[in-house]
Amino acid sequence: MKITQVEIFDIHCPKRPQWNPVFVRIYTDNGLTGVGEAGLAYDLGHSAAAAMIKEIAEAMLIGFNPMQTELLWTRMLRESFWGLGGGPVLYSAMSAIDTALWDIKGKALELPVYQLLGGKVNDKLRTYASQLQFDWDTQVNKLLKPEDYGRAAEKAIADGYDAVKIDPIVYDLEGNSYFDRTKLFTKPEMRLFRERLQAIRDAVGEDGDIIFESHSLMGTASAIQMGEIIEDIGCMYYEEPVNYLNSAIHKKVSDRVNVPIAGGERLYHRWDIRPYLEDQSIDVLQPDVGLCGGFTEAKKVCDYADVYDIRIQAHVCGGPVATAASLHLETAIPNFLIHEHHTYAIKDWNRELCLQDPQPVDGFFQVTEVPGIGIELNDAVVKRSPHVVVK
Ligand code: MG
Repeated sequence: MKITQVEIFDIHCPKRPQWNPVFVRIYTDNGLTGVGEAGLAYDLGHSAAAAMIKEIAEAMLIGFNPMQTELLWTRMLRESFWGLGGGPVLYSAMSAIDTALWDIKGKALELPVYQLLGGKVNDKLRTYASQLQFDWDTQVNKLLKPEDYGRAAEKAIADGYDAVKIDPIVYDLEGNSYFDRTKLFTKPEMRLFRERLQAIRDAVGEDGDIIFESHSLMGTASAIQMGEIIEDIGCMYYEEPVNYLNSAIHKKVSDRVNVPIAGGERLYHRWDIRPYLEDQSIDVLQPDVGLCGGFTEAKKVCDYADVYDIRIQAHVCGGPVATAASLHLETAIPNFLIHEHHTYAIKDWNRELCLQDPQPVDGFFQVTEVPGIGIELNDAVVKRSPHVVVK
């Protein structure tokens, strides 16, 4: 079997211009195709990921045997030159390509990808409703007042979830967002964040789980300051308190806050996670199949984390291909903790991108038994967006 053609889609959603999933579809000479997604659907970088997939396709994909995923991965790592340093643009492109090859491999062997990763460990995947500061509804809404946060959590509970995630510090009361949260918070700010979290606690009850998200934007001191509220509210874990540019600051936060620490969506491979495993400063690792190098690297990262008793919640914030891929990984690993379902994943402008629409039932996901990863692009929608073909 040989790769004959690579199609790359840089998606533009008219209803949500700031949402840009990047898909790849790889064709083979025996008629099989596979799809993958680069994990840069939000903020900056999607067009760079699409361009990087094109460069890799031209350099090493046409004529390559798609079953040789390990060989291709090590070639992308070394022959790209920049792979030996890391970074989201190259690794998201490598991830999209690797995922598509595993999809082809599964179809060729007539098995779902989770079977190729070791078979079923987890039949039902507990799932949480993610990023409730943007509401849990058909539209994205900026939530400001504490009671709005409580109502968003009530909607998630009504949909069958018993766990939610929220970044309660992303907006001030006027709806401004601050990307520099490194200074110490004022008393009125702390009161507002506490009231928002308390409204969520009241909505989910004593037995519901709350994940505190902070997008790596705080400084070490403000992250420790916030820890007091997070402990009082009884959060399940504390996600991305600080950035990854200096692993020592993660260690300081984890030493000073008595709540499990989560992180990893901006760490790309075994080498990136090593300092956090060795200093024990992450309790829940969040690798993204669309960023860490696809299934080939994600499985290794999860197994490596297991050596340190670290649980896994795959980071998922993308199109339906990203959701489908992460379900196969999470089904096959013994250290799975919980699955992330983003509020963008329930929006029509995201759900229409593929022919299948993976959604949980009563707060649980089950992986598909279809060969490959079980998802196909909806050409009637994706072909409206910019796309290129490499032959
Ligand atoms: Mg996050």
